[in-house]
Amino acid sequence: MALADRFDGFLLDLDGVVWIGREPVPGSAEALRALREEGKGIVFVTNNPGKPPAAYAERLRELGVEVAPEQVVTAGMVAARLAGDAADGGSALVIGAPALKEMVAATGATLLEGEAAWEADAVVVSGHRGFDYEELLAAKRALDAGAAFVATSRDPTMPYPGGELPGTGSVLAAVETATGRRAEIAGKPERHLFEMAIESLRGSFVRHERTKEPRNLKLAMVGDRVSSDIAGGHAAGLETILVLSGTTSREDAETADPAPDHVVDSLGDLLA
Ligand SMILES: [Mg+2]
Repeated sequence: MALADRFDGFLLDLDGVVWIGREPVPGSAEALRALREEGKGIVFVTNNPGKPPAAYAERLRELGVEVAPEQVVTAGMVAARLAGDAADGGSALVIGAPALKEMVAATGATLLEGEAAWEADAVVVSGHRGFDYEELLAAKRALDAGAAFVATSRDPTMPYPGGELPGTGSVLAAVETATGRRAEIAGKPERHLFEMAIESLRGSFVRHERTKEPRNLKLAMVGDRVSSDIAGGHAAGLETILVLSGTTSREDAETADPAPDHVVDSLGDLLA
């Protein structure tokens, strides 16, 4: 019996599982199409807030995998929601990619930059290539004055062809060091993103009138990073499947804490 047969649905990480940078992981598109054909529920969960869900859905479509934007939950969406609630119609400083800024602005928060941001009601942190001292200083001033503090993740790195990139955790460490404060994390392994994804997955089963009671669905989290995917999936009460196509080596997998329920080389092995 293939590993996939044990489950009704999957929460699937993207970076390091479906693709690495611009390059698809070999066999991942075929595996996703097969899971769909078998009627498995799928929701994609990513700590990468660099693009809106529709853009990730479009990229999956380019790989030949039909996906609706509702099937993608990003830490950016969750961070925007948390920051929007905290700012409550006020203002926010967003250290992050343009897509994240748009999501936070869509909550009704006014985005501030530079010295004006010293008075922001909420600070949202995510790794991006334009991170600089001025952003760090503005975040410090706002946080020292009591702003709410949200970050998309603590992932130290991002898988990338040719070598990992510094991730949100690296940028967040600078902000936390400068302020002595600790951010609320929107993405994996914290519960917020998992709750949104599991709700979306159960909802899709209801919409498609599948026979099983949504509460009894057997779900698994599939990801390449132990500290976010496996720890978070485990805490959310899901079975966990670690793939070795991303940031975790087989050696590291053997001593992983928490230990994943299953370890496979890549997504294609779910169906082998
Ligand atoms: Mg990953």
